[in-house]
Amino acid sequence: MTSTDIRDHAPLRAAMTGPVLAPADPGYDEARSVWNGDIDRRPAVIARCTGPADVAAALAYAQETGLRVAVRGGGHGYWGAAVPEGGIMIDLSLLDSVTVDPEARRARVGGGAKLAQLDAATQEHGLAVPAGTVSHTGVGGLTLGGGFGWLTKQHGLSIDNLESVEIVLADGRCVRASATEHPDLFWAVRGGGGNFGVVTEFEFRLHPVGPLVHLGLFFVEQERATHALRTARDLFDDLPADATPAIACISAPPAPFVPQEHHFRPGVAIMVVGFGSGEEHAAAVAPLRAALEPLFEAVTPLPYVALQQLLDDGAFWGVRAYSKGLFLDELSDAAIDVIADRTGRRDAPMSQLLTFPLTGAYRDVADADTAWGGRRDTGWLMAIEGVAPDPESFVGARQWARDTWEQLVPIAGSPAGYVNTMPEQDDRALLATYGQDKYRRLAQVKGVYDPTNVFAVNANIKPA
Ligand code: FAD
Repeated sequence: MTSTDIRDHAPLRAAMTGPVLAPADPGYDEARSVWNGDIDRRPAVIARCTGPADVAAALAYAQETGLRVAVRGGGHGYWGAAVPEGGIMIDLSLLDSVTVDPEARRARVGGGAKLAQLDAATQEHGLAVPAGTVSHTGVGGLTLGGGFGWLTKQHGLSIDNLESVEIVLADGRCVRASATEHPDLFWAVRGGGGNFGVVTEFEFRLHPVGPLVHLGLFFVEQERATHALRTARDLFDDLPADATPAIACISAPPAPFVPQEHHFRPGVAIMVVGFGSGEEHAAAVAPLRAALEPLFEAVTPLPYVALQQLLDDGAFWGVRAYSKGLFLDELSDAAIDVIADRTGRRDAPMSQLLTFPLTGAYRDVADADTAWGGRRDTGWLMAIEGVAPDPESFVGARQWARDTWEQLVPIAGSPAGYVNTMPEQDDRALLATYGQDKYRRLAQVKGVYDPTNVFAVNANIKPA
């Protein structure tokens, strides 16, 4: 290969069907940008793959040239694992088709699809699969790390509904992994992240959902945050099985359902999404409303796809974000005191602390059945997010998230947190998250399918 070839990436262009973008090519800057505006890296080349053959060609080229490999699904990874400085970005955004078989209740989803595409295609048939709460997030990274959302209480994590994957391995082979084909690999991709290969297609099991669901949102001002958090903790267990709750310590958005005088007011939003009838939902949220005495509320039916887009505006493309995750066995008074204190000290209004109880179908799966980083008997998943629109206020927002996490770790008893909310490679937190046994098993599978750690730009498991 001549030096002109390398600069121009001519061999890669010749080997691929999809476009190849080098820094001088039109579209390069757009293609290298990801959701987190704090990430500004320049890959040597971007391979926009149209299928497994393109992925294999990009991997072969990386091997020939020694370029570091990173994989881009929806571009929402918090620390920009999709964008390798000076490396090759295997960009899956053209692989975004979703095909639904309503009879079999199955969806085949391209490795670069967004949740919005998945939800729209499945809801055409009154079906859905558990996924995240912001519709522009990628199915790829979300699923490989676990994937939780409004349907997790009813149907588990996204990985609990995965039937199979089509995956291109480090050596370029394309295989299908399922309960019967490469079962070790299938176990590992259900929680082990992008460590094992490039998933070009996910196959999900679907469930009847909607099309209408019911939202209950009760906003309590920051001054009564402790009361709101304790009330939520004490009453969530009484909710029916088809009602999913969550707690968001936020500033009230300038949304139509928020009275103007409360726009940007800090406080606690207690949310309950009901998947049954309107009457059932009204009855389910009545005790919460009575105990919370909210400043304002929004209780309304809405289409499931609208629910999935409800939080989109608060997480717009290009915002700067830093996230830390934690699991709590219980939402103790001590944890609540720290949460109430720290959320009162946010100086960036977009920063937030989200707390989700992990109950119902989440707990029905045995710990060893998937590589999910977390225990199935843990109580709460917490995401602490420092978020700001500009670099100056982002410095304080990031520090707020770090300090809040530091204060909560002793109460949690461990730095373990959801791998998809980790802000950087943190081997100590990763080991705590998977636990010794699961980490060892993941390292063994990594040793079989990616022994030289080609897929290293992620929450990285070192090959055994
Ligand atoms: P990318 O940055 O493209 O990828 C992230 C990682 O996954 C990379 O390491 C990449 O190599 C790997 N990867 C992605 N696709 C593939 C693939 N097809 N094959 C192999 N490897 C791949 N998580 C939840 O569970 N629930 C939520 O409600 C939720 N909400 C979120 C909201 C926002 C605004 C953001 C930013 C994140 C949210 N997350 C949520 C976390 C989310 O799951 C992770 O950020 C996830 O990594 C995003 O995946 P992506 O494909 O968009 O990201």
